[in-house]
Amino acid sequence: MTIKADTIWLDGKLVPFADAKVHVLTHALHYGMGVFEGIRAYAGPDGRAQIFRLREHIQRLYDSAHIVLMEIPFPLEQLEQACVEVLRSNKLDAGYLRPLAFFGAGAMGVGAVNPVQVAIAAWPWASYLGDEGLKKGIRAKVSSYTRMHVNVQMVRAKVSGQYVNSFLANREAALSGYEEAILLDTEGYVAEGSGENIFLVKDGVLQTPPLSSPVLAGITRDSVLRIARDLQIPIREEKFTRDTMYLADELFMTGTAAEVTPVREVDNRRIGKGEPGPVTKRIQDTYFKAVRGEEPRYRSWLTPV
Ligand code: PMP
Repeated sequence: MTIKADTIWLDGKLVPFADAKVHVLTHALHYGMGVFEGIRAYAGPDGRAQIFRLREHIQRLYDSAHIVLMEIPFPLEQLEQACVEVLRSNKLDAGYLRPLAFFGAGAMGVGAVNPVQVAIAAWPWASYLGDEGLKKGIRAKVSSYTRMHVNVQMVRAKVSGQYVNSFLANREAALSGYEEAILLDTEGYVAEGSGENIFLVKDGVLQTPPLSSPVLAGITRDSVLRIARDLQIPIREEKFTRDTMYLADELFMTGTAAEVTPVREVDNRRIGKGEPGPVTKRIQDTYFKAVRGEEPRYRSWLTPV
């Protein structure tokens, strides 16, 4: 899909889409030194957009920057407001927001500390792993690529360069005919998808790798844990092996882009009944109600546009 929008927020102001450009000597292009977020907005009951967990996403952007010694030259509140403005300016009642802070052009060399630029774009984005995937579940493949060790990948940070690992895993899976990759950690335990956290259900218990594993502290992961607690579903944040995953009753992936996507097959083994299971469906249903503002107890997660 080619992305098109009316305006993009760049370094403090909204500019026409065609003017949101950078120099080819932009440091981030060469060394991957960018930090970014993916945020979704959904149309609420009145048809107007509401941004899901905006504060948590923008806070994670600043945390990512802190981890990689990057100083974002705008206060957090200004970037939050900019997200709202980008949606308004593009007349989007729902869509995906992509804030990105990166080292711009200037000096060259890995350790160059160039001026930090910030962009925020928004566009309509349907379900990342497909509508069919959301309804029926996807087929996934354990990757030949490993999620990097916690002292290689800064796991609390969403750093552009780290996504080479995700790209390789995702392309490998796609070229082999699967919808998504599942990456193991350096010890061989299941970590996460190329852009999603992972959950299994066994005997009614929901399990996901702990945050001490090399996984992103997903905001959807956090939302799902909260929803599961509220639905009184027992939770275990504990590592599991690849074969435990094959024997799960249910499996699903979570992410801002992927939302709550059931996994019906891994490495050609059917998971459970090979269709979204009852726990997955309950969580998915509540998640979609929450993001659309249909669940009063989760309204504080939404920022009106
Ligand atoms: N893991 C990785 C590697 C990701 O890129 C993402 C997407 N940001 C996630 C997990 C899910 O995170 P979130 O729910 O905050 O979108």
